[in-house]
Amino acid sequence: MNLNNLSISKINTLFKKKEIKPSEVYEQVFEKTSQSESILHAHLKIFQEEAINNSKLSDERYLKGEELSKLDGIPIAIKDNINLKNHETTCSSKILSNYVSPYDATVIDKLRKCGVIFTGKTNLDEFAMGSSTENSAFGPTKNPWNPDCVPGGSSGGSAAVVSVGSAIASLGSDTGGSIRQPASFCGVVGFKPTYGSVSRYGLVAFASSLDQIGPITNNVADAKLVFNAIKGHDPLDATSIEDKSVQIPKDKTAKVGVIKELMEDGISEDSKREVEKTIELLKAEGNEIVEVSLPLTKMALSIYYLIAPAECSANLSRFDGVRFGLREPGETSYEMMENTRAEGFGEEVKKRILLGTYALSAGYFDAYYGQALKARSLITKDFENKFQDVDYLISPTTPTPAFKFGEKTENPLEMYMSDLCTIPANLAGLPAISIPTGLSSEGMPLSVQIMSPAKTDNSLLDFSEKIEKLVGFTLKPTLLEDSK
Ligand code: GLN
Repeated sequence: MNLNNLSISKINTLFKKKEIKPSEVYEQVFEKTSQSESILHAHLKIFQEEAINNSKLSDERYLKGEELSKLDGIPIAIKDNINLKNHETTCSSKILSNYVSPYDATVIDKLRKCGVIFTGKTNLDEFAMGSSTENSAFGPTKNPWNPDCVPGGSSGGSAAVVSVGSAIASLGSDTGGSIRQPASFCGVVGFKPTYGSVSRYGLVAFASSLDQIGPITNNVADAKLVFNAIKGHDPLDATSIEDKSVQIPKDKTAKVGVIKELMEDGISEDSKREVEKTIELLKAEGNEIVEVSLPLTKMALSIYYLIAPAECSANLSRFDGVRFGLREPGETSYEMMENTRAEGFGEEVKKRILLGTYALSAGYFDAYYGQALKARSLITKDFENKFQDVDYLISPTTPTPAFKFGEKTENPLEMYMSDLCTIPANLAGLPAISIPTGLSSEGMPLSVQIMSPAKTDNSLLDFSEKIEKLVGFTLKPTLLEDSK
């Protein structure tokens, strides 16, 4: 049976009807992994034996009619900055290369209780800092649509595995776009929930006020299923919010704002065309489309690159050779820490720690970090005001389709620009989703991004399902057929 384009709900129905078993689904998924991994390098670890055993346990549950949830027996891959008990969590960094987690992240605990089959840990930019996986200490991941192109980042491995069929879904983390941007580059769905709606307990912190875990999937319905399985208040995460979701009235039609500033300079014709196409489809269904201006989104990148490094410099101070991972000897304990950090961190991470430490240092705090926080709250207010008038906002997910390896490594600003459209939702804490809509002239996937007010995640997902249907994008990369 071909699993391509089957939703998780459909697979669950087949399990219940005993037309296929979880262990057979895992076999197929593993087959794809063994065919693609040498080309893509999407995984840092593959849990073959454990996954076979767990999928057989799931077989038995279905046989007895005792399935745990719709996710029981579904193979899901995990970004390697999320802790899974007794497995390494490296964050693609040398400094954590030998770190084994003694506990499960809350999201893992929840998925485990659903009977999910964990397939492995996926590659990322070191500590989730990057947009291409080129910053992984263990080598980059390739894009299944064209291995000369990056898969995006930082959750590049998580997007690539879903795109190629090495997992039915995956978890990523999104601080400035790291779920949505790689999902867009790999032609799959990526959803960043409202800040605080999914627990961050067990996610290795990059920038705590922005980080959020979310799903990468083949379709919106799957994203909805995984999101609803992992969300919820968690006393172990102080920033976790009560699960009081708000519904946008389910009228037949919606009012959608097109963000003017994200359809201007710096956005490729390819990316704009996808938004325009989607708008036309929405209009034809009777939805109202208006142009909205959010002038502060132009400042979002500058604000992000003060807040994120500042928080990262504080968060990464715990990697000192004393408590976790790598330890490089030195004459004194100070020298040991210095040697460990010099040896253990890659260039991008060091750059951000330096920038962040500077922005937080005495005398500069108010001018940089403090100022960025003020500007951030203005952006949040701006979004709140706009959502008084519109239900949803639409923009491209990325300014361009996936770029080639090495194309942006020499120019960090250009690399940072690839998060132009995604960062505003992180600053304002809003839910945002990337839905694949078409291919560029070079045959690389393109997407639209939809945002909605905080806590309206399920309304956003419902609306996104409509868009997905209207657009009808079902293409998959032909990597495995091509390589035969
Ligand atoms: N690319 C952005 C950065 O490098 C966002 C990363 C992320 O969302 N984790 O900071």
